[in-house]
Amino acid sequence: MTSNSRVVVIGAGLAGVTLARRLGELGTPVTLIGEEEHRPYNRVLLAEVLAGRYGPEVIALPAPAGLTRARVTGIDRAGRTVRCADGPPIAYDTLVLATGSNAVLPPLRGLFTPDHELPEGMHAFRTMDDCLGLSGAVRPGIRAVVIGGGLLGVSAARALAVRGAQVVLAQQSERLMERQLDPAASRFVRRHLEDLGVEVHTECRVRDVRSVGGAVRSVELADGYALGADLVVLACGVRPRVGLAQAAGLEVRTGVVVDDGLRTSDPHIHAIGDCAQHAGQVYGLAAPALEQADALAGLLAGDPAARYTGTRSLTRLTLTGPHSPFDLAAFGETDLRPGDDVVQLADATRGTYRKVVVRDHRLVGGVLVGELGTVGALARAWEGAEPLPSDGGPLLHLLTNEGDSR
Ligand SMILES: Cc1cc2nc3c(=O)[nH]c(=O)nc-3n(C[C@H](O)[C@H](O)[C@H](O)COP(=O)(O)OP(=O)(O)OC[C@H]3O[C@@H](n4cnc5c(N)ncnc54)[C@H](O)[C@@H]3O)c2cc1C
Repeated sequence: MTSNSRVVVIGAGLAGVTLARRLGELGTPVTLIGEEEHRPYNRVLLAEVLAGRYGPEVIALPAPAGLTRARVTGIDRAGRTVRCADGPPIAYDTLVLATGSNAVLPPLRGLFTPDHELPEGMHAFRTMDDCLGLSGAVRPGIRAVVIGGGLLGVSAARALAVRGAQVVLAQQSERLMERQLDPAASRFVRRHLEDLGVEVHTECRVRDVRSVGGAVRSVELADGYALGADLVVLACGVRPRVGLAQAAGLEVRTGVVVDDGLRTSDPHIHAIGDCAQHAGQVYGLAAPALEQADALAGLLAGDPAARYTGTRSLTRLTLTGPHSPFDLAAFGETDLRPGDDVVQLADATRGTYRKVVVRDHRLVGGVLVGELGTVGALARAWEGAEPLPSDGGPLLHLLTNEGDSR
């Protein structure tokens, strides 16, 4: 290792903790700075905590050595130090930004109280504190409105319904999880939520929030209809946390721009995870955050072959309910282009749906709902991007061979 004697990582989420652990294993000590009060945890599993399936301690990440609890407020690139809200500046030779994302707060009238706070009962769904706040407020029969029908909104609605809330999910676009799922798979997700008692409204835009005495009472839709609400969850997407990078004059587009060495426009500063933008992509998913952490650990430990070239990331979601768990996986492109071949198997009774899309003899995408036995084989065929034999037989085999769920 050359100039990496003092490695400082900002952000103790999935990416930062994984990097610190890997570097620790490779003999490089790291100062990991995280602002959250809780022991680092796996954010992907927050919905399971909200649903009451796991206690917060179950989703804790293996504790890294050298964790400093502080909020970093600035980077002095010339002096190579970071400033914290409390305490003296921390010097670095190599700095890593792993600051994650913030929840997007939608532009709704009445979203903030006159004191610029969210009204009581209104919660984002990003952090352990958000999760514990929601968990403490939910009780059987309470009226909850979830705004947003992506992965986060669907997970939150399911968790609240499992806890006995009367849940309405308001989704602005025409179907649930439209970024990952095709219309047929979306319908399966909708049916699963409805079976849990969730009322799903699509093409439904929330306009106003009404509060009384600082506590939320209803949300009003664009057509004037009001939904009574004791609890509102904002699940309107996330935005990379780039404030520190921007203030330090690093190149930032949607995320902090990095090259294949996960290096920002300052060679002493790297970025990984949700806050990073590589080859135009900001992923916002766990698998790329972990792959970037692994690649950067190799690079900083002096592995000449280590670099990051992008992640073909698969979205997986398990919605456990009181009766039946519901699994889905989606990857690549699931909307068809002219000339694409598609193999599709649906069984409405069993609630399963499987589809793969082939373009120029290569697997380019797929959705599996309710039956994930073939996901490992499909993901490998997709990641390998090898041409498939042209008779179509192996494709059907890939879709139906249930012996491999890795
Ligand atoms: C409810 C929920 C469900 C999800 N489900 C899935 C899923 O099913 N599949 C999937 O792939 N992804 C899922 N995700 C997304 C996944 O959690 C993220 O992609 C992943 O956590 C990114 O890791 P990260 O380390 O980049 O960021 P984060 O996990 O957000 O960690 C960043 C950390 O940096 C800290 N930080 C930021 N700025 C500072 C500062 N200035 N000083 C100190 N600390 C700072 C933050 O407080 C935070 O702890 C989900 C996310 C949520 C919220």
